[in-house]
Amino acid sequence: MFDLSIDENKCNACGVCVEICKTQKFVFNENNEVELNNNECVYCYDCVSMCPEFAITSTVNYLKTLEKNKLKTKELIDFINTKRTAGFFDNGQIQSQILEEIISSVKYSPSFKNKHKLHFTVMQNQAVHNLLIGIKAFFKRLLEITNNKFYRAMLNAFSSKQDKYYYSKEFISTIRNALNIPDKDLILKNAGAVILIHSNEDFIFGAEEAVIAAERVAFLAHAHGISSAINVLVPAGINKNYKLKNALGFDKHEKVYACVLLGYEKFARILDVYREPPVINYF
Ligand code: SF4
Ligand code: SF4
Repeated sequence: MFDLSIDENKCNACGVCVEICKTQKFVFNENNEVELNNNECVYCYDCVSMCPEFAITSTVNYLKTLEKNKLKTKELIDFINTKRTAGFFDNGQIQSQILEEIISSVKYSPSFKNKHKLHFTVMQNQAVHNLLIGIKAFFKRLLEITNNKFYRAMLNAFSSKQDKYYYSKEFISTIRNALNIPDKDLILKNAGAVILIHSNEDFIFGAEEAVIAAERVAFLAHAHGISSAINVLVPAGINKNYKLKNALGFDKHEKVYACVLLGYEKFARILDVYREPPVINYF
């Protein structure tokens, strides 16, 4: 169903939509007014979001307000560089209404052709506890297997490039450290909630879309006074763990691209400590 229309009272024929629409759905008529033609629409909503006069409306996804330049540059830099990030959470629960508001941020996260193939699973309370048990069991089994030199050599020789990661020294030592103190949750860090970002389609830009969505969740959490941590052990603990996938209701092709831990911090991580500068080239 095509649901876009141009408000003639607002349109000043600036031509932005004509220029940016990937299917050339906007054209100038002989009176130099902009019209819609019968070309295909891929519902990217670029026209709605870029029309400077807010003249293009959509019944499905109408952006009622688009307040630009609201944050001053310094505020924005401070916000990015000092975002609340927890080294360890205090196990406290997050109110469901706040959690819903945080998750709503992913609605406007970029998605290729506006298809939103990523799914979001929000876990709290017992579900977080069960997730931890499932991941720990998988990692323990992996340690047992890789302790055997023969198995390790076989796995390294016959695994795909992606799977070799599971048997690499670096990963094995990371999970050994994570399981080292049995009474401590060094994987989920006592998070109050866990957000899994996943899909059962191996689609182009899946990883990129997931990282952007995860950052959005983290920023909105910050705005609500809640800390976050992007966690790489959780996807690794689920993606080859068919028993846990089954318990989560995922099919075996489901891939967790990213995981965000949320909660109130016990130990905050300060981001604006010294960081090795990345290589930046200017041309
Ligand atoms: S971008 Fe908006 S204001 Fe500009 S021509 Fe298109 S509909 Fe009109
Ligand atoms: S939603 Fe995208 S494809 Fe459809 S008319 Fe607007 S810019 Fe063109």
